[in-house]
Amino acid sequence: CVLYYQPLIDIDDKVIGAEALIRWQHPTRGLLPPSEFIPVAEENGMITRIGLWVLHQACSQLAKWAEEPMFAGLTISINVSARQFREGGFVREVTSAVRQAGIDPGLLKLELTESQLAVSMQEIISSMVELSNLGLRFSLDDFGTGYSSMAYLKLLPLDQLKIDKSFIRDLLADPNDAAIASIIVALSQSLGLSTVAEGVETSEQKRALVNMGCTLFQGYFFSVPLSLKSFESYMEDMAKKTNAEPQA
Ligand code: C2E
Ligand code: CA
Ligand code: CA
Repeated sequence: CVLYYQPLIDIDDKVIGAEALIRWQHPTRGLLPPSEFIPVAEENGMITRIGLWVLHQACSQLAKWAEEPMFAGLTISINVSARQFREGGFVREVTSAVRQAGIDPGLLKLELTESQLAVSMQEIISSMVELSNLGLRFSLDDFGTGYSSMAYLKLLPLDQLKIDKSFIRDLLADPNDAAIASIIVALSQSLGLSTVAEGVETSEQKRALVNMGCTLFQGYFFSVPLSLKSFESYMEDMAKKTNAEPQA
C-alpha cells in the first residue's frame, strides 16, 4: 500500500494540511483505489492492520515534516474505520504511535464517517474522548449522508464537519444541495466547529461556499490526491508562486 496526499486549503488558498488516502500498488492491475479493497478489508478484519500501518505512516511523515520549515505545522488527516475503534487497544496504539514519533498530537486528525459512528456510538465515544484529551483532533466525514441524530453531535469531541462531496457537486445548480451545504456550515459554526467542503472542483463552487461561511476546502480544483513526492513539489511550487507575487 501507499499513501497519497490531497491538500487541505484555507480561505486564502494556502495549504494547511493534507488528507492521507490509501492506494494499493497491485502487482498486475496497477494502482488500485480504496473502493477496490477497503470494503473487503472491513469484512475480513484486515482493516485493523491496514489502519495501523496508515497511522504509523502518517505519524512518521509528520515527524519528518516537523524538521522542515516549509512543511512544519501541516496537519495530516487519516481515515479511521469504526472497526479499529471497536477492537480493543486502539487508544493505546494511537497513543504509542504519536509518542514514538514524537509529534505534536494536534497535527494528527482522525476522520470518521457519520454512518460508521451510528453503528457503535457508545463504544466509539469514550475512545474519542480519551484521544481528544491527548490532543488529537476529530473530523466527521461524509456529513449529511448518514442518519444524523443532532443529539450526538454535542456528545462527541469533534473539531470539524466535512460536507460530503455529493452536496458540492451540484451546489450551483440544485437549490436543495445549496441549502444542505449552507445548513451544515451554520450548524458547524454554532457548535464551534470548522467546516471542510470536499469535492470542490471549480472556483465558482469555492466562492459559493465562502459566501456560506465555509473556511476549508479540498478537491480537484486545488489538486487531486498526490504521491508524497508530488505533494512536496506542489508545496514548493505554491511557495515559489507566493514569493513571486508583488507585495501589497
Ligand atoms: P473519503 O474519505 O470521503 O475521501 C474523499 C474521496 O474523494 C477520495 O477518494 C478522493 O480522491 C476523492 N476526491 C477528492 N477530491 C475530489 C473531487 O474534487 N471530486 C471528486 N469527485 N472526488 C474527489 P478515494 O481516494 O478513492 O477514497 C475513497 C474512500 O476510501 C475515502 O473516502 C475513504 O472513506 C476511504 N479511504 C481512503 N483511505 C483510507 C484509509 O487509509 N483507511 C480507511 N479506513 N479508509 C480509507
Ligand atoms: Ca475522509
Ligand atoms: Ca468524505
